[in-house]
Amino acid sequence: MLLTLTTTHRPATDLGHLLVKHPDRVQSFDLPAGTAHVFYPEADEQRCTAALLVEVDPLRLGGGRGRKQATTPESFTLGQYVNDRPYAASSLLSSALAKVFRSALRGESRDRPELATAAIPLAVRVPVLRCRGGAELAVRVFAPLGWTVAATPIPLDEAYPEWGDSRYVDLTLTGTLRLADALNHLYVLLPVLDDAKHYWVAPDEVDKLLRAGAGWLADHPERSLITRRYLAHRRALAGAALARLAELRLSDEPPADDSVESEPATEAPRASLAVRRREAVLAALRDSGASRVLDLGCGGGALLTALVADRRFTEVVGTDVSSQALTLAARRLRLDRLPERQRDRITLRQSALTYRDDRLRGYDAAVLMEVVEHLDPPRLPALEDAVFGHARPGTVVVTTPNVEYNVRYEGLGAGRFRHADHRFEWTRAEFAAWVERVATSHGYTATIGGVGDEDPEVGSPTQIAVLSRKEEMSA
Ligand code: SAH
Repeated sequence: MLLTLTTTHRPATDLGHLLVKHPDRVQSFDLPAGTAHVFYPEADEQRCTAALLVEVDPLRLGGGRGRKQATTPESFTLGQYVNDRPYAASSLLSSALAKVFRSALRGESRDRPELATAAIPLAVRVPVLRCRGGAELAVRVFAPLGWTVAATPIPLDEAYPEWGDSRYVDLTLTGTLRLADALNHLYVLLPVLDDAKHYWVAPDEVDKLLRAGAGWLADHPERSLITRRYLAHRRALAGAALARLAELRLSDEPPADDSVESEPATEAPRASLAVRRREAVLAALRDSGASRVLDLGCGGGALLTALVADRRFTEVVGTDVSSQALTLAARRLRLDRLPERQRDRITLRQSALTYRDDRLRGYDAAVLMEVVEHLDPPRLPALEDAVFGHARPGTVVVTTPNVEYNVRYEGLGAGRFRHADHRFEWTRAEFAAWVERVATSHGYTATIGGVGDEDPEVGSPTQIAVLSRKEEMSA
């Protein structure tokens, strides 16, 4: 399997810096199913081509390192020895890309950081690509991304033209794109065209897809086909992925790293649901007059960056049970690079919402944005006690999905939730009942509303409640 990547950006040898692979050397990398080699057939000032060659060991494919085999031609005995895997591009080439060009895929470059964010002239060639759906499908998936696509069907046997074409195409893409975008397109779309994933699709494949598809998949006209095929036609996973894409659509907000600066102060009505939800929460906090706020279950810190950007919030605390989430949040906030005055306003704490935590007492406001649905229902009373009974902030802003709206999400099967980790999703009546009960039993008043375009039948996609603590009688 071979893929080449050519640029005519000057000096073209900068490609070596972007890929972090020296043009003068051949480098080899061990893969679960073979070996990948990177080398440069040409490298001068005008033109530089990097080649990725993947040698597959068909026997190792069968073993699969404890991964379950999906039903592919290889899964019958002889098929393990006689198959086209060693020669045709497929998901193996895609995983080799991810492993060998990891930092380039993320758009990072130590030596050429500016160039990594710039669109440069690129040509990609995959001489033998297995393509279910033919050359026409290759055009449909790559062309909307800014590529000029040449896909030539390869005849089954040149000596016998009457046999017709094989399932393979010779693919050439040309365009002016960011290298990272180009690599992410290939990472997702090569296996999509092949349509025979070689390993069992795990739930974290949804996250991988959304990460690699950031900024281009949500609005792609073939997003549904791409998502289904990428997730190997597992309907539950594809449904969840499509629902999450629908939340991102109509916005160019990259989901993994949405910085507040790039958002206009007054959100246009076409902003994604994620942005509108964040704006609604911020508006509720501003209305409450809070200056010291908690973001409970802060996750990767999407709200924290917005809170820190607003000086009225003099103290911002993000908590999460997951240390991984907190690491991500610290990275997104660029904590290590913030000036001391800014950094002193932010604290990240590992804390479980199902236990009373004295460190969370005495704040003006707390946010539970898209968090309650991640708890098993029997654990909810513990959260209620820890937040409303013990921490007792003046204001609590809660958001959660409106399950009634799910019927409006393309591809999300009946009875499916929007995220694999959701333990439940409430109807409007269920949410209202929960809010009312919590408010009454802990001495708060509540208002309930929706975020996102309201559907006359099923309401808004997101539900929001603002609970305000009543004046406490002192003895
Ligand atoms: N509020 C963020 C993240 C929502 S995802 C946002 O809207 O973007 C839900 C988050 O809740 C996850 O980061 C998860 O780790 C966290 N979480 C789940 N159960 C928790 C618990 N018991 N205590 C604290 N955090 C929890």
